[in-house]
Amino acid sequence: ATPAATMVGTTIGAQNGVLFKGGDVLERAKDVDTVVFDKTGTLTRGEMTLTDVVTFDAAGDAVTDGGRTNDASANASDPRSDGGAVATRERADESEVLRLAASAESGSEHPLARAIVEGAEERGIDVPEATEFENVPGHGIRATVEGDEILVGNRKLLRDEGIDPSSAESTMERLENEGKTAMLVARAGSDGAQGELLGVVADADTVKESAKDAVAALRERGVEVMMLTGDNERTARAVAEQVGIDPENVRAEVLPEDKSDAVEEIQADGSKAMMVGDGVNDAPALAVAYVGCAIGSGTDVAIEAADVTLMRDDPQDVVKAIRISDGTLQKIK
Ligand code: ADP
Ligand code: MG
Repeated sequence: ATPAATMVGTTIGAQNGVLFKGGDVLERAKDVDTVVFDKTGTLTRGEMTLTDVVTFDAAGDAVTDGGRTNDASANASDPRSDGGAVATRERADESEVLRLAASAESGSEHPLARAIVEGAEERGIDVPEATEFENVPGHGIRATVEGDEILVGNRKLLRDEGIDPSSAESTMERLENEGKTAMLVARAGSDGAQGELLGVVADADTVKESAKDAVAALRERGVEVMMLTGDNERTARAVAEQVGIDPENVRAEVLPEDKSDAVEEIQADGSKAMMVGDGVNDAPALAVAYVGCAIGSGTDVAIEAADVTLMRDDPQDVVKAIRISDGTLQKIK
């Protein structure tokens, strides 16, 4: 492109909140044939709300489900609205699970963790201070609460601790099919005592309003649309369905350090991928993609690693970035 064309593209970009890091990126973006979206914070708002607390009795059967909501996307301001019939004893168990989970998560900055802590506070639960936090990236958290080691996280986190999560499986699957992220809460074993499963908590995120239109517009252009996430397969697929991404284009349960490998794998056949992400986790993936695109509320690390920064957190701006590059978005407003 001529310097003049580059300047026009850069200007139109800036007017639309699409910042290109240099003329070569502006040139390259039009050749993107695959767009890989991170899920949390990119296709979804990344604002988690605690929606469910399920406790288990000694046998591991779900005994309460006071937080059940019918609408996975509901903000659940009163998640107990249809759980009023829960017995007193069970309700106490339920708040105990939430109390321990919130305490364990109080040292974590993860959006999943913050929603659990806020959910406990909103329900008036006194959350004790935990000692000795350990983050297990991509899996959960381990913390000492009132002398006990409490685990909150996915199936792998519990299995690695020798706790069998299978009795919670049907509850986990139900929540995940609703697009929620379900997390197991357990007490680790000590001094020869077996670890025990205490319950399940779930957080829900909402899909960004324009995500579906953005995916449709990209597919309309013949661009392959994919999703990459550390979240579990079932939740990821439920969200993919909501935004119109094919189930076979979902790469789930990808560990933070493996996200860049996943992008390289996608590009192995010569595909030119634009990776769109917001988090610290996404920076290496943004760096290896043909075009790395940091979105909206993105962290500084992501912005630094990116070739394009979208000022708003609107997935439609991904389409704009490509259209500015190919010259079909020309109007200077
Ligand atoms: P994402 O790619 O969606 O940002 P992560 O890689 O951070 O997800 O985490 C992957 C999975 O690990 C989560 O879906 C959750 O099951 C579990 N996990 C991670 N951090 C936590 C935490 N602090 N508490 C509970 N579970 C967690
Ligand atoms: Mg993310």
